Amino acid sequence: MPPAPSNRPDPDENPVPSVTPVRDRGDACPGALRLHTADDGALARVRVPAGVLSAAQAYALADAAERLGDGALDITSRGNVQLRGLEPGCGGELARLLDAAGLLPAPRHERVRNVVASPLSGLDGRGHLDVQPLVRDLDALLCASARAPELSGRFLFALDDGRGDMAEFAADVMLLAEPGGAAVRVTVGGAAVRVRAEDGPRAMLLAANAFLDAAAASGTRAWRVRELPAAHAVSAADLRARVAAAGLAAVATASPPCPDRAPGRESRPLVGAGHGAVYVAAPLGRLRAAQWRLVAGVAERYGTGELRVTPWRGVVVPGAGPERLGALEAAGLVTDPASPWLGVGACTGRPGCAKSLADVRADATDLLPAGAGGLPVHWSGCERRCGHPRGARVDVVATGDAHYQVSTPGAPPRTVPLTELAGALAAARTTTPTKTPTK
Ligand code: SF4
Repeated sequence: MPPAPSNRPDPDENPVPSVTPVRDRGDACPGALRLHTADDGALARVRVPAGVLSAAQAYALADAAERLGDGALDITSRGNVQLRGLEPGCGGELARLLDAAGLLPAPRHERVRNVVASPLSGLDGRGHLDVQPLVRDLDALLCASARAPELSGRFLFALDDGRGDMAEFAADVMLLAEPGGAAVRVTVGGAAVRVRAEDGPRAMLLAANAFLDAAAASGTRAWRVRELPAAHAVSAADLRARVAAAGLAAVATASPPCPDRAPGRESRPLVGAGHGAVYVAAPLGRLRAAQWRLVAGVAERYGTGELRVTPWRGVVVPGAGPERLGALEAAGLVTDPASPWLGVGACTGRPGCAKSLADVRADATDLLPAGAGGLPVHWSGCERRCGHPRGARVDVVATGDAHYQVSTPGAPPRTVPLTELAGALAAARTTTPTKTPTK
């Protein structure tokens, strides 16, 4: 039986401090088996490596949301799927449902299968290598690893096919395909090693093990690589030695730990169709079960039978053509690249989160801008800013009494009443950022 739901605060996916105090407990990230108690019921987070689901798995998630939860599915900023409003005591039934759909291949490892990857890899001809097979190899290695459950539920693996779209996630262990596609660079913190592409997943797991040893040696119980004290950072020599000891051919690289070019919007799956796929987004990342089933049905009948949930709160349906967009749009999904929804995000807010000072989703919907363009906007019910995107944005944080604090990069924040927020937001979105926040 899964453990009882936790009543600790949901840490969500907001960044952690760069310096970590010594911790006396593990992280409290929810999972599919460790439910989190929220104000609107229990919450389950189902890890979906690289966001890849079969249509059958997507149908199973919709069934779970309807039978046990509030009838909707949330896409997280790591491309995982969350169920909310779950009935107390439903953990066993949820686990059986997910297990039958193949969504719990290794129950002890379920919270550490945090893997993002270039969603269009292998579809659009960009990138140096199709990283999807490497994602499957990494997941299999993770699920078979005795040490992997020691990782925190926040630890993140990323695989970038060379287009640079994973750079923004600041993953703990990163694989970046190199030109030609025969080699990949694996990084953990400032240490990097170059290996053959097929050895990349094993090198990633070795890098994660190096982090675990470094975290243990530091005595901090760090959850993320960037939390390690400098004196205990994983060194390139250590990483290279581990890779060599595992029998992998490695060449040290002095390259920076992440792609140093900013990912352009064109490298991400925008909404619409092209390259033999259809892309849709969900307003504020939430799909009703019927919308979710519609997307799964398109994948099943007109696509390859696969869906790729993206960290930008959308879904890619490989193999489907543009003639499917009409039905998806009619169901309330975003298919127009000019939709204002594409620049707006929000945390859970009220009524789901006890910390929230406002129903931020309702306010974000009411104040949806007239069109796309300008800086993205992220609404938060409190200072934690859960799920915010990285990079330049307008932060709108509830301060109570129908007021919000609006902040833009390089400008002092100002608090405005809800009644004046539309104008303040319109001005803030057109601000030219003078610096980019790092978190
Ligand atoms: S109100 Fe929003 S930002 Fe604050 S803890 Fe809740 S979900 Fe996170």
